[in-house]
Amino acid sequence: MTTAAGSASLVEKSPAGARALVEICVDDLAGVLAAERAGADRVELCADLLEGGTTPSFGMIELVLASVQRVGVQVMVRSRGGDFVYSADELRVMQADARAIAALARTSSVPVGIVFGALTADGHVDEQALDAIRAAAGEVPITFHKAFDDTADLFDAYDTLAHHGVVRVLTSGGKATAREGADVLAGLRARSEGTRMPAVLVGGSVRAHNVAALLERTGAREVHLRAQVESGRGHLVTDESAIRDTVLAVSANTLASHPAVIAVDIGGTSAKGALVDIDGHVLQSSRVATGGSGAETVTRIAELLNDLIAGAESLGRSVVGAGVVSPGLIDSATGTVRYASTLGWTDVPLARLLSDATGLPVAVDHDVRAAGAAERAYGAAAGSRNVVFAAIGTGVAASLTSDGRAVEGAISGAGELGHIPVVPGGELCACGQRGCLEVYFSGAGLARRYAASAPVSDGEAPDAAAIIARIDTDPIAARVWSEGLDALATGLATLTLLVDPEVIVFGGGVAQAGDAFLEPLRERLSAALAWREAPRLTTAALGTHAGRIGAAMLAFEAAQRPEVVRSWTAPVILAEPTPLETETRA
Ligand SMILES: [Zn+2]
Repeated sequence: MTTAAGSASLVEKSPAGARALVEICVDDLAGVLAAERAGADRVELCADLLEGGTTPSFGMIELVLASVQRVGVQVMVRSRGGDFVYSADELRVMQADARAIAALARTSSVPVGIVFGALTADGHVDEQALDAIRAAAGEVPITFHKAFDDTADLFDAYDTLAHHGVVRVLTSGGKATAREGADVLAGLRARSEGTRMPAVLVGGSVRAHNVAALLERTGAREVHLRAQVESGRGHLVTDESAIRDTVLAVSANTLASHPAVIAVDIGGTSAKGALVDIDGHVLQSSRVATGGSGAETVTRIAELLNDLIAGAESLGRSVVGAGVVSPGLIDSATGTVRYASTLGWTDVPLARLLSDATGLPVAVDHDVRAAGAAERAYGAAAGSRNVVFAAIGTGVAASLTSDGRAVEGAISGAGELGHIPVVPGGELCACGQRGCLEVYFSGAGLARRYAASAPVSDGEAPDAAAIIARIDTDPIAARVWSEGLDALATGLATLTLLVDPEVIVFGGGVAQAGDAFLEPLRERLSAALAWREAPRLTTAALGTHAGRIGAAMLAFEAAQRPEVVRSWTAPVILAEPTPLETETRA
């Protein structure tokens, strides 16, 4: 798997559609890593923050670019502290620094920028110095730093920066703090709506407690802050919790203004995406084909997300996160698909790839685990802490919840109910084992076993639904079904004895066979469990929507707002999508 690094790394993701960006000013590697962990979007990397920040060492820049996973890195180019009026020699040094940073940026996997500012002795932007640095920086975008606030006329200076291709300006509106400069900042922000106008990065005593009000008053989409505290040993260290609080406050501000998330359910032939609001309503949905190469599928899913982000914007919504569920072995902690045979994925860092492509926080989990979580939250297992959710479709997979916690396992392989051996030395399974449960009881297994026993006829071999429909009239169908139920009961008896569930919920098409399924299964399971009661058996309440609902729950978790989903109820989240629904690229 590769992403478009190189030139793409020079392009900043637009914050549109997501919450406002948070940039943290840092002067050491520990600060960079703390900012990344705490959910910041970008760091401004300097040396010597006590001097207001100067060019960091090249060892530092190289190490930071090699260490970050996600955050953009803006590198300060400033040869010394003090004023912003530079000599020709000082400028030559800074040009050389800018060229070296540009060379490092070319191989970086995260967006890299340069932060620079220079003034003339009479308080205007030093246009010649700016052009010289821009030429040295090549394609690396330039942010003009707080030298801007020392200019004689901020609006005039702003237009000058636009004219010289500066992409962003860090400012507190000419005052000591952004709060005092808020009116000027709002004016600059309004002017930034024009094409090729620099973005307004609001800095100056921005804190978790005032950031929401600042965003509200100025309309800014980017904030900058330094979050350092005394280490007690004569230097400053970055305070990770202060960053986390600020990111949360920014997220809360976004959520107050019509937020939504994207839920994606990936299957073997298509990926379905839905735009879901904080009430759990589906506002819009879309789908793309999966298959082809693994890399193509990732690209199509990224396009699906970006289409839905654009759809959200047209509805006046901002997307704050995405949840993606996939079949296979999924490491939910890192959002990595360890293995998914139908999608051609091995060790694909799906969460990171999709986050890079969209600028959104993205969480990835196993489709059946997510569906199980949805059934436990709003469906057939509501209120139960020990649950098995078994999805019986083409294949068979289960999710296990033990004492309220999802069981993932050492290789993310817990819940492979379909491959429990139920017939010693039995028929061969596609997985390489013999006698697996899904060989006998799954959509594919039932169809294959029927076809193997039925006399050859001209018509197509019946699928599982057709076999279920003729159980009462076709002795071969009845036998294949009955043997399948025997196998399933054997597997469920094992499972019951190992994990002791209160309820087993069945999802997937085969489990919707009604009376022909649950009643005979109950009898067989009770017979197999001689000394204990069988758990309650029931069919899923959320049907085929469970995956999407589970993905939406994940998305609000990714957006650091898991409490949003606690107020959801099944009737609301299951209501038909509004007429806004669009199906594209079926
Ligand atoms: Zn198997």
